Amino acid sequence: MDLKRIQMKVESLIGLDQRRWRQAPYGLYSVNLHRVGDYREASGDPNVYSCTPSQLDAHIRFFKQHFDIVSLDDVTQAIASPALLKNRRCMAITFDDGYADNYHHAFPILTSHQVPAAFFIATGLVGNNVLPWWDKVAFLLKNSALSTIKLTQWVNSVGYKGDIKQFIRLVLKEIKASGQCLDKQIEELESLTGLNSSYPSPEFVSWAQLKEMYKAGMTIGAHSHHHYILSSLTDDEILFELQHSKKLLEEHLGISINAFSYPVGNQSTYNNGVIEALKSSGYELAFNFRPGINASVEKKCYDLHRFPIEPTMTTDSFKKMVSYAPVY
Ligand SMILES: [Zn+2]
Repeated sequence: MDLKRIQMKVESLIGLDQRRWRQAPYGLYSVNLHRVGDYREASGDPNVYSCTPSQLDAHIRFFKQHFDIVSLDDVTQAIASPALLKNRRCMAITFDDGYADNYHHAFPILTSHQVPAAFFIATGLVGNNVLPWWDKVAFLLKNSALSTIKLTQWVNSVGYKGDIKQFIRLVLKEIKASGQCLDKQIEELESLTGLNSSYPSPEFVSWAQLKEMYKAGMTIGAHSHHHYILSSLTDDEILFELQHSKKLLEEHLGISINAFSYPVGNQSTYNNGVIEALKSSGYELAFNFRPGINASVEKKCYDLHRFPIEPTMTTDSFKKMVSYAPVY
């Protein structure tokens, strides 16, 4: 057990964890979700499911009790006027990728609670143009008999140990770690599994659905065009991902796009070069996918942290995650 876990265990025994939660620092607490539904019914990657609709409903009730839920426009305004978010515990609810269940399941729940959220869209997926690489990998693994995999670029091999969700997660981890040539890795996996067709249909939002969500008060941001790992691309490719997604969203929705979320979003997937490209492309803020409390939005507006929402999350586990989170 590492030191932090020991500290959490001891503090929980003497009730100090409750005090931590009550005294949680002011700042922006942002949460991130992907799919809303039952991961056991997934045709693609079960690991991108954040919660079921009824869990989402319960999470929002809980968030409303403990945080001021703010829109992404409020966060953008706070860059110029930091006082707007000061001395409050604010929360921004965000969704990445643009799966159709965001429209069918999340949007009605958010509307019923009169709560705003931001949807970061990978524009290459809108209108079901392509099945993204993680859903392809999940399909290939579910439908092949392979029990150990090691692609040419990987350092480690990954074995199946009786849990397909975990197997998919570990294979995707290796694929992301060797982020270059994603398409090549998928091709190699297709040839290893002997499968390269009969993929399930993509399940993404349409432009009309996005427009309806925007008109109802939701904020739309960009999540690149191809959902590649930006730090693995050339400067020109990075600019294309940032600018083309912005342009498509602006043209189709008739609005101005100023917010971005990094595909995958852990520390190795973006860098100063990507941040400079965001600035020169007219973005005002960007979210990563690393847990943490944003104490000063204005100072870190291209590196805003987000807490993941997982299907196993309870109010207790959320309180723990937040109470022991780093403050940026
Ligand atoms: Zn994503």
